[in-house]
Amino acid sequence: MLSKQQTQQAVVIMGEMFPDAQPSLDARTPFQYMISVMLSAQATDISVNKVTPQLFTDFPDPQTMAAATETALQQDIRSIGLYRNKAKHMKAASQALLDDFNGVVPRTRADLMQLPGVGRKTADVVLADAFGIPAFAVDTHVTRVTKRLHMVPQKATVLEIEQRLMKLLPQELWITAHHQMIYFGRYQCLARTPKCAQCPLLGMCADGQHRLGLKK
Ligand code: SF4
Repeated sequence: MLSKQQTQQAVVIMGEMFPDAQPSLDARTPFQYMISVMLSAQATDISVNKVTPQLFTDFPDPQTMAAATETALQQDIRSIGLYRNKAKHMKAASQALLDDFNGVVPRTRADLMQLPGVGRKTADVVLADAFGIPAFAVDTHVTRVTKRLHMVPQKATVLEIEQRLMKLLPQELWITAHHQMIYFGRYQCLARTPKCAQCPLLGMCADGQHRLGLKK
């Protein structure tokens, strides 16, 4: 596995490759950001950004979303995968915000995870990107990249990946490193066709060397 120093070096290189890596969901308030993250489960950020302008015009806050019918919410998000379930969670989470948090999105993972449809990854993304609170959300890109680079054990769970990355990287890097890894996964270390031959991390990547036949 990569050492702490090698991991930090890899993240520096990802940062040099993608210095402008940043959140790609469009939202104006923490509430809207939270809803966007919920919608992005098993959907691309681009597809979410296509539906949220109308959604947030119709239902901009927890009050309007909690009062909406599920059918009305579904209408605005029907191009997104799992839209029926997501509409149900959006309404229930809005109601829970009103009932338990005075309509304000909470700033702790434990409180966020009390909301229907908000799991650990969604909570971490909201903490980091809506509030700037250090957290390391692990998505499909982070999982793939960290396993291919052997930053984490191959059988590591999402939670184990998160905990190991938080140990390997200084806290002030968590938020940016998360975005840089996502960009690296999206544009360099793609799921089906990683660009290993042109990868600046090839020298430290046993997986890439194996794919190119450089290592057995
Ligand atoms: Fe991904 Fe290939 Fe680069 Fe390794 S060498 S990090 S597998 S793109």
